Amino acid sequence: MRPAALSCLLLLAAIGAVAGPLRAADADCPAIAIDDDAGVAADTRRLVCQGAGAALTFLAGHGVQPQRRIRVALRPTLRSGDTHLIGRYDRRSDRIELLTFDAAAELSVTDALFGEAMDAALYRSVVAHEVAHAIVEQNRSPAQRSRVPHEYVAYVVQLSVLPATTRARILARDDAPAYASVDEMSWIYYLLDPGSFGVKAYRHFVGLADPRRFLDELLSGAIRAESDPMDRW
Ligand SMILES: [Zn+2]
Repeated sequence: MRPAALSCLLLLAAIGAVAGPLRAADADCPAIAIDDDAGVAADTRRLVCQGAGAALTFLAGHGVQPQRRIRVALRPTLRSGDTHLIGRYDRRSDRIELLTFDAAAELSVTDALFGEAMDAALYRSVVAHEVAHAIVEQNRSPAQRSRVPHEYVAYVVQLSVLPATTRARILARDDAPAYASVDEMSWIYYLLDPGSFGVKAYRHFVGLADPRRFLDELLSGAIRAESDPMDRW
């Protein structure tokens, strides 16, 4: 399977400026703040809110809650210069950068995410992936030093929030088996084929007897994942 047009650079350095407390007034777009210096269409904003809401609901259902507001910047091109990415979470600024829906759709013509044409559901799943990164970072113990759990949780959330029919197509295209354990999860494999890493992570997650406990132990560092080759946290 073609590696997805999505990945996240989880960069060195401590979390930067902390956003404000969550406010009940944002019930239609919970827990996130959207920076919109591009005059983004209301449709894209709505998709972002829906995607973020899906991630929040999924993770809350497994006992993982956001600790502070998540900042999302919508742009026609990513300021990072990553022309092959739809979304990106940056630990340094504790912000998500996302292409607008139109820009994501244009990119997907030549670099299809999971082999799928970009549509509203797939775009929402990208938002969910990036929001999951932010929530993982907000809940990750310093004892968990690997980036593998970040991508594991992000892909589990992303595939979980997709419509069942879309997810079934993606899984049918990629016969990569479930990870048997965290010990098998490899940062190098993620870099080589992020889409298959995600599929293997999802298949592992849905096979767990106690997924809530697994996530808790993963975030706390009780379960240690492989450290990155250069350990660049
Ligand atoms: Zn990611």
